[in-house]
Amino acid sequence: FACSKGNGYSMLYHSDIRAEEILNINMLRHLKSALALNEFFLVFQPIVNLTTRNITGAECLIRWRNAELGMVGPDHFIPLAEDTGFIVPLGAWVLDNACMQLSEKLSSGEWPSDFKLHVNISLVQLMQQDFSHSLFATLTRHNIAPHNISIEITETSMMKETEILMETISTIRRGGVSVAIDDFGSGFSSLSYLHKLEFDTLKIDKDFVSDVLTDSRNESIVSAVIRLSHGFNVPLVAEGVETAEVADKLQAMGCQKAQGYYFARPMPLSEWPDIEKVLP
Ligand code: C2E
Ligand code: MG
Ligand code: MG
Ligand code: MG
Repeated sequence: FACSKGNGYSMLYHSDIRAEEILNINMLRHLKSALALNEFFLVFQPIVNLTTRNITGAECLIRWRNAELGMVGPDHFIPLAEDTGFIVPLGAWVLDNACMQLSEKLSSGEWPSDFKLHVNISLVQLMQQDFSHSLFATLTRHNIAPHNISIEITETSMMKETEILMETISTIRRGGVSVAIDDFGSGFSSLSYLHKLEFDTLKIDKDFVSDVLTDSRNESIVSAVIRLSHGFNVPLVAEGVETAEVADKLQAMGCQKAQGYYFARPMPLSEWPDIEKVLP
């Protein structure tokens, strides 16, 4: 990151600086004040059981609305937050806010007691020494049972397995919180880490799911991952399901759960459907 390399802002006038880096500096400036200015909010996307078509849980996704930048997608600012360490306070805010909203839905009875809320956690956060401690402290503060939470960690970060990571994941699972491997298949990884790592759910990346009907190679990959999930005896969530045809195909192939625009877009909880309603 240009700014942190020492020559400071004079670098901006250097002819070969990339436009992207200038944008990043501007974004970082806004990012650092965004927590205090209350510019972040959370949206929740239903996760559906493909057989019953009932909502069994949700994934919580962060949104950022800034006066100058407009809406900025997490794919743009999460990497920047990770590079600068800002993800640590930001991730803590996400967890706290998600638990607060979850706790209201559970205590009002709108969501059943076995509802599972998935929260994305980045590797930088997970590697903080006190991560599991602060996770459980947050749950306690909001009076939430551990089985109501699943943390999502991307396959790519799982591959950077270290002692601390394994130990943290083990502590988290012993405490009753689930662990999901996110974007499975996109990490270009070897399968060897799967037998070492503990996890409760696999999520297959939307890149494979979206054209499962038209691309026979992708169909083979999805089919192999479905069999893998059966072998490990963990549920598989297919991400990015956009049509009835893809949902039906995945169901026929034996995929247990799904998430995608066909069922519902990520929404603030105020716009959420009645959980009892069978979707769509
Ligand atoms: P992800 O965890 O894999 O989340 C799924 C992404 O797919 C979300 O993008 C979601 O809006 C999108 N999506 C859902 N259904 C469909 C569909 O049917 N079609 C298509 N094309 N896309 C669909 P989003 O919200 O832009 O988030 C992007 C990524 O940013 C997430 O990928 C996750 O890695 C990261 N992220 C989001 N919120 C957080 C957060 O609170 N903390 C951390 N550390 N990362 C987050
Ligand atoms: Mg995720
Ligand atoms: Mg994903
Ligand atoms: Mg992703």
